[in-house]
Amino acid sequence: MPAKIAGQLFDKVLIANRGEIALRIQRACRELGIKTVVVHSEADAEAKYVRLADESVCIGPPPSDQSYLNIPAIISAAEVTDAQAIHPGYGFLSENADFAEKVEKSGFVFIGPRPDTVRLMGDKVSAKAAMTKAGVPCVPGSEGALPDDPKEIIKSARAVKYPVIIKAAAGGGGRGMRVVHTEAALLSAVSLTRAEAGAAFGNATVYIEKFLDKPRHIEIQVLADEYKNAVYLFERDCSMQRRHQKIIEEAPAPGIPLRALTRIGERCADACRKINYRGAGTFEFLYQDDEFFFIEMNTRVQVEHPVTEMITGIDIVQQQIRVAAGQRLAFRQRDVVRRGHAIECRINAEDPDTFVPSPGRITSYHAPGGPGIRVDSHIYHNYFVPPNYDSLIGKVIAYGDTREQAISRMRIALSEMVIEGIKTNIPLHQELLHDESFLRGGTTIHYLEQRMAKRKADRLK
Ligand code: ADP
Repeated sequence: MPAKIAGQLFDKVLIANRGEIALRIQRACRELGIKTVVVHSEADAEAKYVRLADESVCIGPPPSDQSYLNIPAIISAAEVTDAQAIHPGYGFLSENADFAEKVEKSGFVFIGPRPDTVRLMGDKVSAKAAMTKAGVPCVPGSEGALPDDPKEIIKSARAVKYPVIIKAAAGGGGRGMRVVHTEAALLSAVSLTRAEAGAAFGNATVYIEKFLDKPRHIEIQVLADEYKNAVYLFERDCSMQRRHQKIIEEAPAPGIPLRALTRIGERCADACRKINYRGAGTFEFLYQDDEFFFIEMNTRVQVEHPVTEMITGIDIVQQQIRVAAGQRLAFRQRDVVRRGHAIECRINAEDPDTFVPSPGRITSYHAPGGPGIRVDSHIYHNYFVPPNYDSLIGKVIAYGDTREQAISRMRIALSEMVIEGIKTNIPLHQELLHDESFLRGGTTIHYLEQRMAKRKADRLK
């Protein structure tokens, strides 16, 4: 492996992911003059971004646990191709501290925070404790993990006050959570969540939080280098969710005063300095009654990063690579300026009403374009959407001088977009882009599900 001089960019980066984010990272590398190695499963062998990479290595059969989660296979792919660094993307191994550690121990750079930071933030109980200490406001809840003693659990929930939400310390992807409205339902909910968390995440630790009834999901994007320089790139509003999963994101967040956002942004940048954070990261908050409450931090690039890139002009993926190579951030907080408004619609291969995944062959594809439109997607005419992975097949991002212009451009873009052969959620997006509450801005995280439930009830009438 060629020796890497501190601060000098890598010659070659291995991309340990698939789909749109693998292509996104590849584009960032190519712009920086870095060669790319893409690892892929047998199901993704034909994908165009795999062909576009300088090198590709098949790391196993379609199921993720035998390919994209196969740590030894990924490390040996980096060894045989002489890559210097590994970009984990999002999902898969991106927040796996053991993986980050193995990458570094094998002599490669992990493009992300140090393994101990990934570990600290990967456990929501330790993350909340660290944030409380760093002065970031958190959702009120149990002090740390719940003990075994039922009396203590009841005491803890009473102190927080009902309704409460039981959450898995290792939870992710909107799984491992249960809302409890009354004391009678508490203990069985705790046992169920523990059992589920143990089976799904290999960690049965749970904690209690106050269940907020009408919050918005507002998150702060940060970037930090090894030298304790940290900036925030403002916020994203990701309140349009179904089953705790985001489908539309936008920046800025409509209706929240800039003063409040600046204050919370500064807290986040400060927390990064306090915990020696390195790389890109996201502080996720619930926002209710003009207050921010931290819920968790994501120590990786997020699906919705493009909306921030559109309003700040900063390439977040390139910055991740630069700081991982030991470079200093080339800008300070006062240089970060936001302009205009950006909205992202996640395009999923799924039934727009039931959300049931819809894999298969794309028999016809036409991508939208025009002023302010960005499409991040790996799909193309005749592409086969494999049934083995997440249903996200692309993202359409619309930028405008104002929110109205961004919405108008998004409507036009989605009306132009053609994806045939599989079902997609484009019809749902088109509906939401004409929804009065969405147009007003500031809907809560429960809005979409309430709206879908109402529509279902109306149909049955
Ligand atoms: P995950 O890691 O699975 O994404 P989060 O802690 O980020 O879990 O929570 C995901 C979503 O669950 C939030 O965006 C919100 O919709 C809901 N949620 C989490 N905590 C609470 C809470 N205390 N009150 C109300 N809703 C919550």
